[in-house]
Amino acid sequence: MQNLKYVGKNLFLERVSIQNFLKKNKTPFYIYSENQIVSNYSNFVKTFKKTNPLVCFAAKSNSNTHILRVLGKLGAGADVVSGGELLKALKAGIKPKKIVFSGVGKSEEELKIAISKKILLINCESESEAKLINTLAKRLGKKVDIGFRLNPNVDAKTHKNISTGKADNKFGLSIKNFKSFLKEMDRFKNIKLEALSVHIGSQILHDGPFKKTLSVMNNLIKELKLNIKYVDLGGGFGINYSDKEKPINLNVYAKLVSNFARKLKCQIIFEPGRSLIGNTGLLVSKIHYIKRGLNKNFIILDAGMNDFMRPALYDAFHKIIPVTKNSSKMKSAIEFVGPICESTCKFGIYKTYQKIKENDFVAITNVGAYGSSLSSNYNTRPLIAEILINKNKSTYIRKKQSLKKLINS
Ligand SMILES: *Cc1c(COP(=O)(O)O)cnc(C)c1O
Repeated sequence: MQNLKYVGKNLFLERVSIQNFLKKNKTPFYIYSENQIVSNYSNFVKTFKKTNPLVCFAAKSNSNTHILRVLGKLGAGADVVSGGELLKALKAGIKPKKIVFSGVGKSEEELKIAISKKILLINCESESEAKLINTLAKRLGKKVDIGFRLNPNVDAKTHKNISTGKADNKFGLSIKNFKSFLKEMDRFKNIKLEALSVHIGSQILHDGPFKKTLSVMNNLIKELKLNIKYVDLGGGFGINYSDKEKPINLNVYAKLVSNFARKLKCQIIFEPGRSLIGNTGLLVSKIHYIKRGLNKNFIILDAGMNDFMRPALYDAFHKIIPVTKNSSKMKSAIEFVGPICESTCKFGIYKTYQKIKENDFVAITNVGAYGSSLSSNYNTRPLIAEILINKNKSTYIRKKQSLKKLINS
């Protein structure tokens, strides 16, 4: 998070002092740096400059309408996985011709929305889905552009819960089944195969799996002599959550992609989520209680796993930093936990940590992706606020949900 730094003892996001901000704003909340979003996007575009891809931001990584609008203004399209995300992307001003729709279980209602809004591509994940699209399109008197999402059977070498490109994963159609479906596709007059897509997983830190996937696609397109307009290479680019991890270097892959696109004369689409938004956000939380345990002390935060699921869901590491630094040390090991009645509602153990006390504030880092979008009302807790920072200006881009509304809904 390059826009995050300490000035003296105080944590700043862009030019906003978090400590000052806390005088008037209640925790917990998500807070994002707009300029970090801008620089992530422009770096991505720069990396793939030769290819000039359509960059469809994976809306599920952060589906705040305001954030979609920021990315849309920079030129991004959207990769959506539900009718709701599709409508949000449109509401954020993203043009239908920059929207692709993925997902294994799209409902009839969702497909009707996609067809009637004339989005760029519906990326089918099964023969049954393609047939249903054909039926719906026929009923509506339309011909619909589709892509087929393939399962290239490539190991993304990432956490098993975020791997999507192996034969054992539910995503995409196997190449074998795609080949046989292709033979009968002529029967379906209301769909047109314009694209192939792949997305092999998330938080991938080495380019090997991407290169392998590209070669699978290359061989397949050549073997079948397919003449397609788009190849959608998905997302999945990893970021460094800990100081030990290195962010993925995409320069070699970018060259291969550019050669691939030139030879096959196709337009490339990417669907990055995490790599555009992950390092832009903090979750700021108050230390509510400190409780002594037998082996470590529990630092009980006001943010819970319902606000931020990644540690509970994927064992994810997110560094927790103090809003105000000091040079004293805690006497024993500590564990940051939340208030939810689940043992998995915890955010990390530290053997040593600076001195912290009740009513101090901490920030959970790199929570921009799969943070707020994965949050829930579990334990009947309202969804928390989201704030966007640009230099010294702050804007509420989602108000905290009202408890009254939540109870009456
Ligand atoms: C989730 C998802 C993405 C984004 O993945 P990241 O790891 O956040 O880049 C892209 N495409 C599809 C189809 C997805 O489901």
